[in-house]
Amino acid sequence: MKVAVIGLGRMGWPIAGHLAAPAHGHEVKVFDISADAAATWVGDHAGGAAASVADAVSDAELVVSSLPADTEMHTVVDEALAHVAENAIWLDHSTISASGARHFADELAKRGAHFLDAPVSGGVDGARNGSLTVMVGGDEAAFARAEPTMAAYAGRVTHMGASGAGQITKMTNQICVVGVAQALAEGLDFAINAGLDPERVVHVMTQGSSTSWEMENRAAQMIAGEYDFGFSTTLMRKDVGLVLDEASAMNVSLPVTAMVAQFLADVHALGGADWDWCSLMERQRRLSAPNGAAQD
Ligand code: NAD
Repeated sequence: MKVAVIGLGRMGWPIAGHLAAPAHGHEVKVFDISADAAATWVGDHAGGAAASVADAVSDAELVVSSLPADTEMHTVVDEALAHVAENAIWLDHSTISASGARHFADELAKRGAHFLDAPVSGGVDGARNGSLTVMVGGDEAAFARAEPTMAAYAGRVTHMGASGAGQITKMTNQICVVGVAQALAEGLDFAINAGLDPERVVHVMTQGSSTSWEMENRAAQMIAGEYDFGFSTTLMRKDVGLVLDEASAMNVSLPVTAMVAQFLADVHALGGADWDWCSLMERQRRLSAPNGAAQD
């Protein structure tokens, strides 16, 4: 299949790599606003670089995008619209607003093409090892056509409903994970201040009722204070902002999510905009008494 991949960041790069791998054998053309990123990707993979968004999408049967946010998606889709092939499918793995997803679906439909909002969970490791979870909104027939292609980089792909349903599912995922990560930061900090070996505590807890993806995949970095990897505080603040806007429109109360949004702003102010967002631990540590010493 002829596939265009737009956005070669932490997620788009490995996704494009899986699609171009001999096992999957798609004809891949990549585009990134950074010409260096595209040139380096082409140097490492069997695929070509497009000169522009228009060039990338013009003969693609499938367009895959992985861009930071709504703004970049608007820029790219606006440029692409006049060039998208009839009946092409646009599979967007960015995390954006549900209203943005519905808007892009309407615009693509006017061109006789299809837009699927398909945000992902599983992080950079999931993209690298091809085990992403994908939650998809949009036309069911388009989903059925796109689903086999996603097997190249996803372990679980689920159609959630009409346009926007993929993004709403991703928002639900983020609501459920932010409180868990903050609780993990508090628990680890508590154990450290009590003089316990936090690694032993995690070893015990991963077999108990408090285990979580965050505990299994992030506790070691939180204990070590290593945040130079992964999903940035900036991107998580964007996601939580989307959640709070959507919840406000629905009159749904999300007090814990709103509180962690403030804590993420604190991490940003500490210089952690580019740190993985498990750096909530750093904020927690700096607020606590060192090694259990009493505070004034
Ligand atoms: P990233 O910032 O690493 O990559 C974004 C890429 O888009 C960059 O290479 C950038 O140059 C490119 N880009 C920006 N504007 C562009 C434009 N106008 N035209 C073409 N290319 C453009 O981001 P990421 O971490 O890969 O995340 C991408 C999306 O996936 C985001 O919406 C994010 O919320 C979501 N996501 C990320 C993770 C993660 O762990 N990193 C996990 C789940 C979901």
